[in-house]
Amino acid sequence: MAPYTDWSISEIAERVRSGEVAAADVAEASLARIEAVDDRVRALLTVTPEVARAQATAVDRAIAAGEDAGPLAGVPVAVKDNLCTHGVRTTCGSRILPQFVPPYDATVVARLREAGAVMVGKANLDEFAMGSSTENSAYGPSRNPWDLDRVPGGSSGGSAAAVAAREAPAALGSDTGGSIRQPASLCGIVGVKPTYGRVSRYGLVAYASSLDQVGPLARSVDDSALLLSVIAGADPRDATCVDVPVPDYRAAAAAGMRGLRIGVPREFFAEGVDPAVGALVRAAVERLCEEGASAEDCSLPSVSYCLSAYYIIAPAEASSNLARYDGVKYGHRAGAHAGHIGLMERTRAEGFGAEVQQRIMIGTYALSAGYYDAYYRRAQQVRTLIRRDFDAAFERFDVLATPTSPTVAFKVGEKADDPLAMKLADVCTLPVNMAGIPAMSLPCGFHEGLPVGLQLIAAAFCEETMFRAAYAYERTTDWHTRHAPL
Ligand code: GLN
Repeated sequence: MAPYTDWSISEIAERVRSGEVAAADVAEASLARIEAVDDRVRALLTVTPEVARAQATAVDRAIAAGEDAGPLAGVPVAVKDNLCTHGVRTTCGSRILPQFVPPYDATVVARLREAGAVMVGKANLDEFAMGSSTENSAYGPSRNPWDLDRVPGGSSGGSAAAVAAREAPAALGSDTGGSIRQPASLCGIVGVKPTYGRVSRYGLVAYASSLDQVGPLARSVDDSALLLSVIAGADPRDATCVDVPVPDYRAAAAAGMRGLRIGVPREFFAEGVDPAVGALVRAAVERLCEEGASAEDCSLPSVSYCLSAYYIIAPAEASSNLARYDGVKYGHRAGAHAGHIGLMERTRAEGFGAEVQQRIMIGTYALSAGYYDAYYRRAQQVRTLIRRDFDAAFERFDVLATPTSPTVAFKVGEKADDPLAMKLADVCTLPVNMAGIPAMSLPCGFHEGLPVGLQLIAAAFCEETMFRAAYAYERTTDWHTRHAPL
C-alpha cells in the first residue's frame, strides 16, 4: 500500500472516517515527511506537531464515539503564514511580526478544523504576500521540490512546495495577483483562486483588500474541489464575502466537455511567454477539444495595461493596510527612539523589507493629493476596462485557457536584481484578480524537466464550469500523478 503521504485527500478522509486508518497515524506520517525533507525545501516557517497531534486525536475520538468527523477528517494541511491561527505564531514572512500570536482563527482555518483537517504547519511566503518567488520572505526563500536550486514561485511558495514535496496533501494560500496559481504552476500542482467574495477573508492579513482571496492548493482537481467546498461561503465577519449558495464542486466531475466553449486569448501567448509553455497550453486545449469542447482564439485588448494598473492599485491599498504596523499595538518595536514619530519611523525601517518599503512609498505617492487622479483613478478606470473585456469574452465562451506562468520555475537569485522581470512573472495571472473572477492552475506538461501550468478562467461565481474543464483534462492526462524527485 502506498504511504499515507501519497494518498489523495478524499482517500484519507474516507478511510479515516470508516475507521480503517487513524488520523493520528496520518498526522505522524506527514510530520515525519516534514522532518525528512523540509530542511531542504524550507516550505514551513513553523511546524505545529502539538496542534496536529491534538487535532488528530480529536478526530479519532469523534470517530470512536460514532460522530461525524467531517469531510476532511484527518487530512493534514499547511496554512500560509498570513492566515491567523489561534495560538500559533503568524509572521507574514516579515521581521515586523516575528512573534505575533493571533488570539483567533481566520474563518478559513476554523472551517478546515471543523471539517476535521489537521494543521501541520505554517507555510513560508513573500513578505506580506508581495512577490512571486518567496525570495522576499524575511526568513529566506523556499525551494522548488522539482529542483532545489529553483524558486517554488510565490507568494504562496511555501504552501505549494509543501504540497509538491508531499509534506501535506493540502494547503491554503492567498492570491492577490497570482500567488496561488503561479506557485502551483511552478511546483506541478493544482491551485485555485476563487471569485472575489466566494471565500471569507476574515483573518487573512490584508495586502490589497480589493484583490485578496484565499484558496486551496492540492495535488489534484478533485482534492482542490473538495477543499474549496469546505472553505467557501458567506461569513458574517467579512462583508465582502457574498451570500450565494456553495455548489457541490465535485459534481462537475460528471459533466464532461461536450458543448463547452473555450476561448484562447492571444494576449496571453505574446512576447515574454516562453514558446514551449505556450505550445503545451495549446496542446492542452486540443486535448479538451478531443473530449468534446470547441475552442477559438479571442482577444482581451485591455490586458496589456494590467501590469501597470495592478502596480498602482495593489501598492496603494498596501500602503493603507500596512499603516497599522506602528510599533505600538503589536509586532516589532524599535528600541531607543525620539518621540512617537521616531518610534514609528525606526520600527517600520527595521521591520519592513526593501520590497514592502518600496510598495508603501509607491502606494502613498499614488494616493497623494495631486497625483491621485493621474495614477489611482486611472488605474481604477483600466480595471473597469479589463472587467468589461472579460464580460464580453464570457458572452462567447464558458472558460478561457491561458498559460499560468510565462516560464517554468527560475533559479533562486536569477531575478532578484531585476524587479521588472520579477513582476512580469505575473502577467498571465493579474488580470483575473483585477476582474474579480475565478481561475485555477493545473499541470499540463513539463519543459526541461520542470512543470508547466494551464490556467483556466471562468466568469464570476462559475467555479463549477472551470472545474468541469479541469476534471475532464486531468482525467485524460497523468501529469498530476508525477512526483517531484525528492
Ligand atoms: N506577485 C504579485 C505581487 O507581488 C502577486 C502577489 C500575490 O498574489 N499575493 O503583488
